[in-house]
Amino acid sequence: MQTTTRTAASRELHKGKVAIVTGATYGIGLAIARRLAQEGAHVVISSRTQEHVDTALAQLKSEGLNVSGIVCHVGNEDHLERLVKVTVEKYGGIDIFVSNAATNPFVGNMLDCSKETWNKILDVNLTAVFLLIKLIVPHMEKRGGGSIVLISSIAGYSPTLGIGPYCVSKTALLGLTKVLASEFGPMNIRVNCVAPGLIKTKFSTYLWQNPDLMKEINEKLPLKRSGNPEECAGAVSFLCSSDASYITGETLIVSGGGQARL
Ligand code: NAP
Repeated sequence: MQTTTRTAASRELHKGKVAIVTGATYGIGLAIARRLAQEGAHVVISSRTQEHVDTALAQLKSEGLNVSGIVCHVGNEDHLERLVKVTVEKYGGIDIFVSNAATNPFVGNMLDCSKETWNKILDVNLTAVFLLIKLIVPHMEKRGGGSIVLISSIAGYSPTLGIGPYCVSKTALLGLTKVLASEFGPMNIRVNCVAPGLIKTKFSTYLWQNPDLMKEINEKLPLKRSGNPEECAGAVSFLCSSDASYITGETLIVSGGGQARL
């Protein structure tokens, strides 16, 4: 697969912008944070674990990137408030928000999912996104605009059996994207979404550690392979950039051609 090597000074697409990325210490979120920083943004990374934040920060800083980090479990409202407060106090505002953190603690039939598990999935994957946006948008308004990208999933379009509640939460993000894009357009705040297909990360370990299953999945895809986090990061960076200045309310599917719609 073709990969692109970037240096800190390779492009200036997001020069001077302040970006928040949740769930950004490994996997797709880390790749997004790296890409936005490579393209000139100051990126505030976050996740549940101080150790993961420290490790990711050390790595990104060793690459010469302009990043800082803070612990933020998106299911904890105090953490959400602190993330926004610290970012605004230290960096003066927020221009870009990428909502990437999600959870999938349940595998089984819908009828076997307890109310507690259902609520946890919706709290982390949907309600936290809404709450963070409520906190962030006033700061984007003060800057005269901004860009928000929600990370959904191809499973939000075409449900995967066994992870029903997760699929529902990801479908809801497609609706949230449309509603917010309409409301925030007059504030010059664009809201878009990226729906990854199968991307090789810790989150999808149970799939790619099963070679027979992977072969079956890949054979159905036009590109005949799973994706990597950097391929999602490129889509997010584009949507956050001025190259996408007339795009809002859209979802980019990054799935190797896996079908989600016509
Ligand atoms: P991952 O490799 O498991 O990485 C998850 C990241 O989020 C880590 O930095 C983790 O760090 C953090 N995190 C987990 N729970 C969190 C929480 N409650 N609050 C804050 N941070 C949290 O996952 P991924 O594959 O990169 O997935 C990223 C996004 O892509 C998710 O929205 C997922 O639904 C979506 N997606 C993934 C795939 C795929 O095939 N991988 C496909 C479609 C959609 P800590 O452990 O330190 O919290």
